[in-house]
Amino acid sequence: MTSICLFTADLRLHDNPVLRAALDSAEQVVPLFVLDEAIEAAGFAAPNRAAFLADCLADLDAGLRERGGRLVLRRGDVARETCRVAEETGAGQVHIAAGVSRYAARREERLREALAGAGRELRVHDAVLTAVPPGAVTPAGKESFGVFTPYFRRWERADLRDPLGAPRVVRVPDGVASRPLPRAPKGTSPGLPAGGETRARERWRAWRASGLAAYEERHDDLAGDATSRLSPHLHFGCLSATELVRSARDAGGPGADAFVRQLAWREFHHQVLAARPDAASRDLRPRGDRWHGEGPEADAWRAGRTGYPVIDAAMRQLRHEGWMHNRARLLAASFLTKTLYVDWRIGAAHFLELLVDGDVANNQLNWQWVAGTGTDTRPNRVLNPLVQARRFDPDGAYVRRWVPELAGVRGGAVHRPWRLPEAERGALDYPAPLVDLDEALARFRGARGK
Ligand code: FAD
Repeated sequence: MTSICLFTADLRLHDNPVLRAALDSAEQVVPLFVLDEAIEAAGFAAPNRAAFLADCLADLDAGLRERGGRLVLRRGDVARETCRVAEETGAGQVHIAAGVSRYAARREERLREALAGAGRELRVHDAVLTAVPPGAVTPAGKESFGVFTPYFRRWERADLRDPLGAPRVVRVPDGVASRPLPRAPKGTSPGLPAGGETRARERWRAWRASGLAAYEERHDDLAGDATSRLSPHLHFGCLSATELVRSARDAGGPGADAFVRQLAWREFHHQVLAARPDAASRDLRPRGDRWHGEGPEADAWRAGRTGYPVIDAAMRQLRHEGWMHNRARLLAASFLTKTLYVDWRIGAAHFLELLVDGDVANNQLNWQWVAGTGTDTRPNRVLNPLVQARRFDPDGAYVRRWVPELAGVRGGAVHRPWRLPEAERGALDYPAPLVDLDEALARFRGARGK
């Protein structure tokens, strides 16, 4: 008997209930990954994520080979290719992780139909991509929580399954055709991190020992760069959220508590998207905004040339690393939507083009949170980039790291280059502020009717 383990966003051997179920159901398993043309056609396979994915697949293949198996890689339509592999191997079951996006729901539906037509079965597994599956905790009479704090109170008390070890042996049937593993495409960010379960586990072990305890005090320090940087590993499932939550809880302390709370934000957004897949593009709570569209303001924001150094530093970090600090994401998104009053979808699309951790649930719903169309209970809050810069980059080190034109400006003065003495200011190849903050804020409040 043969089963198929169809990997999606669970590219790991440790604590993978999909792989375990496939192994328990048959003597032989086809560990399958399909490079889905639909994802490429939708423009979602941005170079940074494609490069990270290539690393993940290479590492998964190496891990499987150590266990006597290998990864089978196909390209094309995911339902068609999976059915083909099932036919070629006589596999009776296909195991897959439950997803939350509209794309994942359609994939599941199409797979189920296609397999059923050939007398085969699709088995969908929960608690693979998140520790608490979407829908497992809900408010009375509703499908999902719309506010984080009550969600978190329930999420914290939810039972977690025991983590599973990695399998010792994986027997793959002989002769299953596989394409060569993909290579990183051109055009990736120069400072892109490397992917794969091996690195993810090393990163977690090292950061758990060195960074977790201080996370609560340091996570907002822009220059300190003290967060875990595990988001791309979580996005591709190189690490299990269940394992992370348990391991952090075992470590204990305020740092671990704060970290687990952030992991819960990720799960909160998953359950919102599962219940409201339209939130990927539509305002969750429409407020009659008349956002500005594309134009010179959005261009300056994308290019990191707004004249507000902390915003420009954030945007350049994104371009250089394919990643941005969470505080910087908040500032950059707030500036675009509430200072420039540009549609959040324009910002979200740019983030998705570059973020190595870019995912529909966390990107779109964080954007909506910041834009005030989503789950923030204070939708009109505005993050003033100057106040925030003084607080989270007091010495200006974050700005000097990412905006070389300002590298010679000492201390916090780097946040207001327009206030430098005329001669010094004139020598800088750095733009004047794109907008006046007070005027912009007044415009935003007027537009929102507040
Ligand atoms: P840590 O601070 O170490 O946190 C640990 C983990 O918790 C993260 O890896 C992440 O999985 C989760 N997490 C932390 N903060 C959040 C949050 N606010 N929402 C959801 N999960 C969170 N995160 C993504 O994974 N993908 C995205 O596409 C994404 N887009 C964002 C867009 C905007 C406008 C904003 C404001 C935030 C976005 N985030 C996104 C959330 C957050 O910024 C990143 O998860 C975080 O910066 C990743 O760095 P880290 O792994 O060092 O986080």
